[in-house]
Amino acid sequence: MLEALKEEVCEQNHELPRNRLVVGSGGNVSGRDPETGLVVIKPSGVKFSKLTPETMVVVDLDGRIVEGEMKPSVDTGIHLYIYRHRADVRGMCHTHSPYATSFAARGARIPAVLTPITHILGRDVPCSRYATPGEVDTGQAILEAADGGMAVLVKAHGVFTMGASATEATSVAMYLEEAAMTTHLAMLHGTVEELPQKEIDRCAAWFRQNYGQSGEKDVNS
Ligand SMILES: [Zn+2]
Repeated sequence: MLEALKEEVCEQNHELPRNRLVVGSGGNVSGRDPETGLVVIKPSGVKFSKLTPETMVVVDLDGRIVEGEMKPSVDTGIHLYIYRHRADVRGMCHTHSPYATSFAARGARIPAVLTPITHILGRDVPCSRYATPGEVDTGQAILEAADGGMAVLVKAHGVFTMGASATEATSVAMYLEEAAMTTHLAMLHGTVEELPQKEIDRCAAWFRQNYGQSGEKDVNS
């Protein structure tokens, strides 16, 4: 079941090590099927190189395994908490990508100083309160900090991004890490200047109208 979604989620999980966003088997991507509401997610503790569409785990929104031989990601409860509370989210990605997580280690947000990331997010990247690793507390912290947005740093943990698909959520994680690295490097040289929200809104609207071949927002190419 959900063969296309399993292929997409598997492929997006492979993007994490390819883009140096993860080490070992840490990090995970999931996607939600809009028809059935079922979620496809990476299995727990399996190296990325071993992942195939067949190894993906299908769960319902209460975490019951619907299909799959292995246990789902240890972060499944966090993904499901977000899916239960955000109808607009159909894909999630979690990493400990180093530059973004260095902000999370300080409990600091990533300021909105670069247009490539504000085009996508329409704002800065907020950092949540500290949350006990576990489904409900971390899920609540993400929801609170996101405030309807698509990317959050969880204090003392890492990056959680959301999207209209697993592919979009993963792309946000890639661009977020690039922005975190560049912003970090800029901050080494002095104070950075944050873009005014009015300008961020104007640029984000322009981006949505003009980027890509179809005029639709596509953060993947
Ligand atoms: Zn984690």
